[in-house]
Amino acid sequence: MSSRKKISILGVTGSVGQSTVDIILSKPEMFEVCTLTAYENFEKLAGIAKNLNAKTVVIGNEEYEDSLRLALKESGIAVLSGKAALEKAVGPGTDITVAAITGIAGLRPLMGAIKNSRSVAIANKEPLVAAGHLVLAEAKKYNTQILPIDSEHNAIFQVFNFEQRAGIERIILTASGGPFRTWSADEIAHATPEQAVAHPNWDMGAKISVDSATLMNKALEVIEAHVLFAMPADRIDVLVHPESVVHSMVEYNDGSVLAQMGASDMKTPIAYALGWPDRIKTPGERLDFSSVLQLNFEQPNVEKFPALTLAYKCLELGPEACLTLNAANEVAVNAFLNKEIDFPAILEAISFALGHVPDISLQDIDSVEESDEAVRQITKSYLNQRQLHSKSDRKAV
Ligand code: MG
Repeated sequence: MSSRKKISILGVTGSVGQSTVDIILSKPEMFEVCTLTAYENFEKLAGIAKNLNAKTVVIGNEEYEDSLRLALKESGIAVLSGKAALEKAVGPGTDITVAAITGIAGLRPLMGAIKNSRSVAIANKEPLVAAGHLVLAEAKKYNTQILPIDSEHNAIFQVFNFEQRAGIERIILTASGGPFRTWSADEIAHATPEQAVAHPNWDMGAKISVDSATLMNKALEVIEAHVLFAMPADRIDVLVHPESVVHSMVEYNDGSVLAQMGASDMKTPIAYALGWPDRIKTPGERLDFSSVLQLNFEQPNVEKFPALTLAYKCLELGPEACLTLNAANEVAVNAFLNKEIDFPAILEAISFALGHVPDISLQDIDSVEESDEAVRQITKSYLNQRQLHSKSDRKAV
């Protein structure tokens, strides 16, 4: 059946990848699965590939290529490995690609997908934060439609009337407030990785869950919104909305506010992107307006969660600062998840890195990667120094 949409998924073993797989499995007549990629979870990749009858799989870490081949023996599914293969994972003639590789690691595969895919549904915000201008330029060059999957941006995309752009006054991103919204500053200072990844409303990967706890996720989303909707920083607001029912809003100059609402289920934004410009009937929880449905909104507490202030500062400073914010955050979150640093050190490290933004103009992917690496080194050495000091402090006591 030639009417089936040819789909590829970058980062299929993660949380968004899995939700995408569930939608495809519920609509097998709608999709023809081309390429699936993962970084190292070869067993899960092989299982999904067989289940979806994929044509090709790519494993980023070459060490797992042999194991993946063995797992897919006699399946007829082609196996490739390595970073270069990830970059070329999406072949010509693809209708839609879901880009869901966590972190800046997803940038090159995303750029490769933009070349060959008619539309690219972007779930990973990091490439848009670190190199949004390059991603958009590439999409323009190849006439590729970018569809946001990040739930807030997907919500805005649904209610943002591009033909009435002049009438749009501001966009309002909603934030759940994360797991520490009601905690005291002292409690937050002693938060563990286990507490940080226990998100009240959304079921997500570890990195984005920690970002949600620091509110850095919302900070990155402010930059992401600036990139995707070409809105200046002073027309992007953030409201804490603990119920996560309103996924974001657009306010027009006649006072109308359009909101997109739904259950906290990533399948809704993913299905919207997969079906676009049509909609796909998707199983899952529905909002129940007959039960007690309360919607609360409050201003974010930027004293307790300074990440948001940093994002607005970065937008003022330019793309190099946005890249720095992202790279320093990736390093610090990783160190926190590995229990090398405490929770407050995440924001300390990022603030330090923002005082040392590399003087490299971000004109291409090479310069983005060079700059990203420089920020990682600066952040790592800051955190190493900090650990040494805290150890000697403990000895002195
Ligand atoms: Mg989001």
